[in-house]
Amino acid sequence: MRICLSCGKPAGTAPSYHPECLAALFETERLPVVDIDLAELDQLALATVGRAALPGAQPKLSADLDVERCTLQVAAGGGHYLLKPQAGTFPHLPENEWLTQRLAAQVGLEISPCALVSLRDGSLAYVVRRFDRPVGGGKLAMEDFCQLAELPPGSKYDGTAERCGKLLRRHASEPLVELLKLFRQFVFNWWVGNGDLHLKNLALLRRPDGRIALSPAFDQLNTRLVLPDDPLAMPIDGKRDNLGPGSWARLAQNFGIGPKAATRVLREVAAALPGALRLVDAAPLPAELREAYAALLRERAPVGG
Ligand SMILES: [Zn+2]
Repeated sequence: MRICLSCGKPAGTAPSYHPECLAALFETERLPVVDIDLAELDQLALATVGRAALPGAQPKLSADLDVERCTLQVAAGGGHYLLKPQAGTFPHLPENEWLTQRLAAQVGLEISPCALVSLRDGSLAYVVRRFDRPVGGGKLAMEDFCQLAELPPGSKYDGTAERCGKLLRRHASEPLVELLKLFRQFVFNWWVGNGDLHLKNLALLRRPDGRIALSPAFDQLNTRLVLPDDPLAMPIDGKRDNLGPGSWARLAQNFGIGPKAATRVLREVAAALPGALRLVDAAPLPAELREAYAALLRERAPVGG
């Protein structure tokens, strides 16, 4: 099956993007030429994301669209897109991140428009629209949870799920709505084996209507595909592994979420399994990585136990 490399849904024959998906990402139904070559990227100063152990650093760069030439190119800074090419140390991180972000959308988490695109050399890169740069121009104020906790960036792993809940309660315009979203995000990240959800990978965004709310989910990937026993970066209920129903019940209670609402979230994530397995199966990853991803999703699907 051919899938759209933006939304992940069936796309018939080539080209493998829905025009409406391209429009949502690039504001044009034409796929821009990505005027970047993996070999040239070494010469650019690349910001890196993730922890040193994981991605021998997963590189990312700022990119912008030249509308007239319909070309996506490296921006000196302040571009409207982030582009993450293949990393030398661990293969297939861009495909892994794209797949994980699409799975997040399937369980009802908000994500920014994204896609896999081919660079000039044919390698796949992950491209995502920056959610703090709205279409109409300008910049939305954003603070990550490390900043909210008044910690230096180097302390991004000094968090717990419960501490994040506390920060959200203090700073969000509608704390109860946001705490339920955050609970869903923690359940999801456990399900997909993301061991790199730390304080800088959660953020509050001032929305165009002035509300201060969680940002769309970002930087999510299945780290267990590259580090098989990778534990959670931030403990939940004091645990970094082997989470069961009791831990989710206690986290919900800590967040002030009623048992019924918590159960609904757990059931919705579990119910996403069949669709998630179809997407994993169709994803542009080698068979052994697709199988490993699917096995984890099956194993953890009854996230509530
Ligand atoms: Zn699509």
